[in-house]
Amino acid sequence: MNDIQLAVEGVTKRFGGVVANDNITLAVPRGHIVGLIGPNGSGKTTLFNSIVGYHPVDEGSIQFEGLEISRKRVIEIARLGMIRTFQQTHIYGKMTCMENMTVSVPHRNEGFARMFARFTPDIFEKAEHLLEFVGLYPKRYLLAGDLSFGQQKLLEFAMALMTEPKMLLLDEPTAGINPTLINGLIERLQRANADLGITLFVIEHNMRVIMNLAESIYCLAHGQLLAFGTPEEIQQDQTVIDAYLGAH
Ligand code: ADP
Ligand code: MG
Repeated sequence: MNDIQLAVEGVTKRFGGVVANDNITLAVPRGHIVGLIGPNGSGKTTLFNSIVGYHPVDEGSIQFEGLEISRKRVIEIARLGMIRTFQQTHIYGKMTCMENMTVSVPHRNEGFARMFARFTPDIFEKAEHLLEFVGLYPKRYLLAGDLSFGQQKLLEFAMALMTEPKMLLLDEPTAGINPTLINGLIERLQRANADLGITLFVIEHNMRVIMNLAESIYCLAHGQLLAFGTPEEIQQDQTVIDAYLGAH
């Protein structure tokens, strides 16, 4: 059982004098939920940005399903089935939830230019089904900007599912969400993984969430990989406690 879907090898990313990612090597097995933790500024978001093609890496290789993607653009990588969500949500506040669902997704098999060909009953049905899945069906005709922040994150999650991703990269999915919505979100992430077969790679600061959700966890500090292990191993790792958990 060693089917590596995403392999990051020796990735370095610099911003001027700052080494945001310093020779990072890690692997995400197909069908797993893998966590990525570490202090603020340790390079987590930068690594996600490199993986999804938001910016080129300075060194190293990134392979998705055996294909080198480190020189590919965001849209090309999205079409391969790898989608990320953001620390801050990326939704259109002046559009309804349904409009957000049908309009904004870079679909895996087509470009933005063919977007309008997608206004078919199928797409509306799928949008309604996924809004139901995240609990936003009753709000489907409300403006996205009128939703609470937590609901906007659920909408963004549903929008990501519209593209039928193989792997989702989630950047702090529970940040800014109230505790009651957090439980609902965790359950939906688990169902997306178990029922839809989507691999999840999750940056998360909420320790309760990530320890319950992830099967294995990578910890970054100062742009470097500090530790890797099961949630139990990570919680007991003295270097992780010193660099991160101790301050939590
Ligand atoms: P994290 O997500 O773990 O909080 P980041 O990946 O956002 O950390 O940041 C890692 C380091 O890279 C920080 O020192 C940050 O200031 C720097 N950094 C991130 N993005 C940029 C950028 N676009 N330009 C310059 N520096 C950046
Ligand atoms: Mg970040």
